[in-house]
Amino acid sequence: MKTKKKILLLNPPFNRSVQRDYYCSHTTKSSYLWQPLDLQILSGFLKEYNIILYDCIYNKHHKHKALSNIKNLSPDIIISQTASASLNSDFDFLKKISIICKSKIIVTGDIVRSNFKEILNKHNFINACITNICHNNIKDYIENNNIVNLFNIITRNSANIEEIPSIFSIPKPKISLFNKKNYNLPYTYKSPIYTTLTTYGCPFACKYCHFENINPSLRNPSNFALELKNIKKFNFQYIHFRDQTFGYNKEHLTEIAQIIKKTNLPYTIYSRADVMDFKTLKMLKKSGLHTIEVGVESGSFSTRSKYGKIIQNQTYIDFFDNCRKLKINTVGIFIIGFKEENLTHIKKTETFIHKLKPDYLSLNILIPKHGTTIENKNSSKIDLDPTKGLITQKKLQKIQSNIMHEFYLSPKYIFNKIKNLENLQDFLHLYKNATSINK
Ligand code: SF4
Repeated sequence: MKTKKKILLLNPPFNRSVQRDYYCSHTTKSSYLWQPLDLQILSGFLKEYNIILYDCIYNKHHKHKALSNIKNLSPDIIISQTASASLNSDFDFLKKISIICKSKIIVTGDIVRSNFKEILNKHNFINACITNICHNNIKDYIENNNIVNLFNIITRNSANIEEIPSIFSIPKPKISLFNKKNYNLPYTYKSPIYTTLTTYGCPFACKYCHFENINPSLRNPSNFALELKNIKKFNFQYIHFRDQTFGYNKEHLTEIAQIIKKTNLPYTIYSRADVMDFKTLKMLKKSGLHTIEVGVESGSFSTRSKYGKIIQNQTYIDFFDNCRKLKINTVGIFIIGFKEENLTHIKKTETFIHKLKPDYLSLNILIPKHGTTIENKNSSKIDLDPTKGLITQKKLQKIQSNIMHEFYLSPKYIFNKIKNLENLQDFLHLYKNATSINK
């Protein structure tokens, strides 16, 4: 009898927690971690093989231990997530694997999607790059090395065929591998969470975002319904949608919301303030919407517009007010470090944060991402205040830390949060998040 190929789905080790999935990587100081979505989706395409998940970030395994475990597993094929946030470490680790194992190595990730040619030129131990996790012919590639007309799989011999259908379906993932208690989120104590998506790409094109260049595509609602029906058997407590602009197509959204409602599970989404009007929020609240994250970026409309996020201040004010009325938790995502912005602009952003009063604040320093318009146009020294000279990344980090502390540790914020806590679990969860900002 022919033995099944052994395929290792790998989330490589790193010296801190990192999220590498769905073309949007970042490191994190807190303990939250969701499923490595690229690997979860690919598991559906590969169900007929002997697939093993090894999430070194979840297991907190360091490189030495991970190498030894992988050597013992001796897989035929390794499919690894990689990320710009842990770039050198990831490729260094994969190179070490290639020395001790004969496995074929296939990679996915933000930098892989935008820079596959460079990755293949630079790292001869990489056999192929997956450039679309939802739509590709990975199985054909595994079965036939020499195939040349692959789509969304790039090798040294194949043509680069990029295919993004307007409607896509994905096979049901091998959920049992990803059902782990400690996959969780910072804004809910409920776990295990289940991570999935209803769209691919984004119809907008913000110049600092990886999704600037990923054309949008909608997931077939019946295909989505089949996946959700399946997760009910696994005792998941909360759904985490990784769509980058959830609900941008209203007709599609209406169908999707009805499907989610049937699960009776609370859920979280990422979207835009101009997509989520009151009527839409009300419909989603009825289907279980618990938390929504939106990018505000700068407190200055002119900065936002310059970078492609043309949303008026009033739209944000209305959005956060509407969420409060409907009791939907909000996460406001802001960025400091745009090269046009000086200290006065940053102060304006801080004032806007206090005006909008999100339930949670995510404040980031701008990092020019690979493949985006602003890549290479920024520098480590940013002219924040022409009257005071150049201010470094270090200064930006200090400003970031001060704003975060002022937000989370203000007596008003703490009072409001405690007032709205519903039970002890809520309190413990809030305490864990509040203390993690100091790490
Ligand atoms: S709307 Fe969001 S996901 Fe889409 S390009 Fe802009 S920042 Fe990226």
